[in-house]
Amino acid sequence: HFANQNAKEVLFYSSDMQGQLSDRVDLESKLRNALVREDFLLHYQPLVDSSKDEIVGVEALIRWDHPQEGMISPGQFIPIAEDTGMIVEIGDWVLEESCWQLKEWQQQGYDDLMMSVNIAPQQFQNSAFVEEVSSIIERTGIEPQYLELEITERTVIENVEYTIDILNDLKELGVKIAIDDFGTGYSSLEYLTEFAIDTLKIDRAFIHKQKNEAIVKTIIVMGDNLELSVIAEGVETEAELEFLAQNNCYLYQGYFYSRPLPVAEMIELLEA
Ligand code: C2E
Ligand code: MG
Ligand code: MG
Ligand code: MG
Repeated sequence: HFANQNAKEVLFYSSDMQGQLSDRVDLESKLRNALVREDFLLHYQPLVDSSKDEIVGVEALIRWDHPQEGMISPGQFIPIAEDTGMIVEIGDWVLEESCWQLKEWQQQGYDDLMMSVNIAPQQFQNSAFVEEVSSIIERTGIEPQYLELEITERTVIENVEYTIDILNDLKELGVKIAIDDFGTGYSSLEYLTEFAIDTLKIDRAFIHKQKNEAIVKTIIVMGDNLELSVIAEGVETEAELEFLAQNNCYLYQGYFYSRPLPVAEMIELLEA
């Protein structure tokens, strides 16, 4: 399984580094401790509308501020969190934290700002997920249409019937759904019309390579025809941005505009 393979790679890597993450048995308790000690935090990457040069949303991206090892990226610990099942609790924390932040921004007058949150497969497939989303919306008092949940093809192909039901339930709550890393999974195009989704996020692997321009164009046209928003991920250069605009894709994230930022810096950027 892909996730397990990732986790092994990470474990091998960190034991090489004599990191504290090396003991497999310890990992779950380390992740649990990190939750309790509040060592996790969120950075936010702007989602930009290039036609107005305006920030229209942010994506919440988790970071682990480890007391000994410093900042650990999600690429290193999310696979382990998935492997141990801790991803469900961590994911709930991310969702709640990001919704409180959204509420704060909505109260400060940034009332059109979208908040995108990554949802892991196990989290999505957990029977309590819809209830969890619903109660977080209630607790935080956010307007749900400004919350977009990002799931991957890996999540949706696991159990198509179940996915259809859950997506419909989420739609009833009023939240939006994006397919993240679109184009990198093994799912069928058929589901695009079966599932209640709102947005395709083109994986950054397609954005960077010139030989993939035809694929990017095709995804944009397909998204338009299906009345889905299309977001380009990982835009790093002016040339990439221009290519996207020429093909009617104006929503993007990427280092060209901004890296994911700590909340204080994100606020400064919003104010500017
Ligand atoms: P993602 O959801 O596709 O997030 C985009 C990743 O691309 C982020 O990496 C972001 O920093 C990076 N990125 C953005 N713009 C650029 C760019 O222009 N160039 C390059 N090279 N990279 C760019 P990050 O924050 O390290 O997150 C990696 C992945 O970890 C995320 O990919 C997502 O799958 C996962 N992840 C992050 N936070 C969470 C979370 O709270 N829950 C879950 N389940 N997964 C998360
Ligand atoms: Mg994402
Ligand atoms: Mg992505
Ligand atoms: Mg991803």
